Amino acid sequence: MVEVVLKKGKEKAALQRHPWIFSGAIEKVKGSPLNGEVVRVLAANADFLAYGYYNENSRVAIRLLEWDQARNIDKGWYQQKIQTAIAARKHVLKNGDTNTCRLVFSEADFLPGLIVDQYASYLSLQILSAGMESVKADIIDILRDQLNPLGIFDKSDATARTHENLEVEQGLLWGENPPEFLEVKENGIRYNINIAGGQKSGFYCDQRDNRLLLADYTRDKRVLDCFSYSGGFSLNALKQGAMHVTSVDSSAPALETLQQNIELNGFAADRNTIFQSDVNKQLRIFKEEGTTFDIVVLDPPKYAPSRSALDRAARAYKDLNRLAMGLLESGGLLATFSCSGAVDIDTFKQIIAWAALDAGKEVQILKQFNQPEDHPVRLSFPEGEYLKGLLLRVL
Ligand code: SAH
Repeated sequence: MVEVVLKKGKEKAALQRHPWIFSGAIEKVKGSPLNGEVVRVLAANADFLAYGYYNENSRVAIRLLEWDQARNIDKGWYQQKIQTAIAARKHVLKNGDTNTCRLVFSEADFLPGLIVDQYASYLSLQILSAGMESVKADIIDILRDQLNPLGIFDKSDATARTHENLEVEQGLLWGENPPEFLEVKENGIRYNINIAGGQKSGFYCDQRDNRLLLADYTRDKRVLDCFSYSGGFSLNALKQGAMHVTSVDSSAPALETLQQNIELNGFAADRNTIFQSDVNKQLRIFKEEGTTFDIVVLDPPKYAPSRSALDRAARAYKDLNRLAMGLLESGGLLATFSCSGAVDIDTFKQIIAWAALDAGKEVQILKQFNQPEDHPVRLSFPEGEYLKGLLLRVL
């Protein structure tokens, strides 16, 4: 097996079980590994550190897999890692009112570059590292064996694959194609999802817990759900007895699905109003009209894809939150989220504090929102923590 020796002093992160080695930390590669090949990573003093996937095209030149030298990275190793990840999701799926969740979450489950989402009897796969790509056939085999799905669909994120110099792929990998609209349930609410045409991998299951937590505050309230997608927050609020829910998103297909989901769950059509619009524009219109709400949800897309985009993203989050605060009656609630890994919770609080100052509001934090347990955060890999939110009372 090819050995890769790190520069002196660069072994620290690997010793602390961080799974990334940047290209700048490499002293020499003893041989010429293929991209995606498993290599032995050694410290400058030749001590074994870990096994990892090598990829000379990636900024993260090695993705570490296994710190125990005695283990073989063979099909049995993948079987065990996948089995452990699936077993850990039993708690999410335990009472049958949820049949969609993330079964495998990449580095957080010790499988760098592999994401597996379950949608009822179908699986959606993302292969985001050259190493995982090289064992794709084994992965499909293992998933068939352990889960017996009706179909396995490739929904790999294009940008992440480009970073690893992999072709962008999509389509059926095994079994039968899911129907155009596949019904799943989450916390007892029914959703149609479109795996092939939907965003991300079809559904944002990372907001499962937060939708439920917020719903508890919505009885008899007028709720504004911004960036609603297929209605995760809207539907939970309707179920908990919200007086009226206004949903805003710029995507027509997402809103069509939301419309279907309202009917699917039997909610009266007149309890929901949909605006296909840019959220910032719509919030300004509400302000001009004098329209107010009791609760506003802000769940925007990732504004900061990297640390370099942080300043711009901070301004965008600030403007958005300032506008939303301006639509709340005194004592109203704002549930505000960021799914940018580059914006940590302290930075996010600071941004919201600026927004409050600009809006001329006093704000209390009632609750902090996190990503759910099927998106675990490894203490040795803080980069895996990306979703955060605050429930605020705006005075
Ligand atoms: N809250 C949703 C997930 C939101 S994902 C849920 O619970 O499922 C982000 C959404 O923002 C996407 O649906 C996308 O279409 C929408 N979006 C992105 N930019 C937007 C903009 N400027 N105005 C309105 N919607 C936008």
